[in-house]
Amino acid sequence: MPSNSSDTKLSRTIASTVTLQLAKIHTSDYFYTPIEERFERITRIARSALRTPVAAISILKPDSQWFKSISGWSVGQLPTDKSLCTWTIESNQLTIVPDTLADERFTSHPLVVAAPKFRFYAGHPLKDSMGVTIGTFCVMDIKPRAVSEREQQLIRDLSMLAQMELETDRLADAQREFVSKLSVARREAMVDPLTRLWNRRGTTIFLRNAIRRADDELKPLAIGIVDIDNFKRINDLHGHPIGDEALRKAAQILTSTLRHDDIVGRYGGDEFLVLLPNTNAAESSEIMNRVRETMFEEAIRTRNGPVRMTASVGCIVREPGESVSEDELVSAADAELSISKSAGRNRVRIA
Ligand code: GH3
Ligand code: MG
Repeated sequence: MPSNSSDTKLSRTIASTVTLQLAKIHTSDYFYTPIEERFERITRIARSALRTPVAAISILKPDSQWFKSISGWSVGQLPTDKSLCTWTIESNQLTIVPDTLADERFTSHPLVVAAPKFRFYAGHPLKDSMGVTIGTFCVMDIKPRAVSEREQQLIRDLSMLAQMELETDRLADAQREFVSKLSVARREAMVDPLTRLWNRRGTTIFLRNAIRRADDELKPLAIGIVDIDNFKRINDLHGHPIGDEALRKAAQILTSTLRHDDIVGRYGGDEFLVLLPNTNAAESSEIMNRVRETMFEEAIRTRNGPVRMTASVGCIVREPGESVSEDELVSAADAELSISKSAGRNRVRIA
């Protein structure tokens, strides 16, 4: 266990600043990208296999830690001085803290003394292909706990999977182009912090690009709006935080149900815009109905039991070369959505 002397602290800080500056060179393309199912899957498996309430994959910046995927805790990023992962980065190996209150490095940590009052932490560094630490895989619990050999191996294996996914750029072409063209700061302004999907601004740019691409390739483009049914009631009955949880769940369902080249963004409060390139009416009906069914199947867990939600969808198919403005296309999809709503909700309308 490191000593508490100020010299050690200073050299530790210098070392981690150098590491993070090195990491910064390699990681700008990792930041402020939308949620991706391949990372969500790893944190989901981690929570369930290790039985911890929180699991995360984070990327480091010199001043903060940004979560590429975080399951069980709704933060998007943390300033470095609030991060529990600093010790994992410094030790550069699997770091396990069975009880934060029994470890002098953590007893006065802000996440230990105040909510969520983490009592257990385990983290593993994630490196890029050049061996530079760029992030962490970690699990946390509000209860102290011991970690068995088997669990340690599981943490190492899941970290390796996360690292392999980070090394592979799997964003669809349209999104990859967008990500590499924009600066990190501009990208940050285009990702919705709650759902981690592209926000309205980002989605509008994708719509424009998708239309251009569809015309170049002479392919149809389906444009859908997914709107949660009676969402106000979820907020009223269960509170705003559960409403937020429902929006995050809807975003995850959309990302995991849509295909690789499809794009989804949060267009408004409980409204998501979906772009399905090279997709005709029959195919879009199939995809949108799959989204609708999954929304209903995957309940949100609350203290008062599971909460189910449904969504209505309005969708139109644009043929290549059609001279209809972006706004008119969205309005046309919205008109279909209104028909779905007035016909009783939980249904899909394709023009
Ligand atoms: P409908 O079936 O007709 O869509 O009914 P609705 O209740 O879903 O109506 P509407 O779409 O107009 O309501 C959207 C609600 O979403 C209103 C607003 O309070 C809520 N909302 C918007 N943004 C957020 C958010 O970020 N978090 C939460 N919890 N609620 C939000
Ligand atoms: Mg709604």
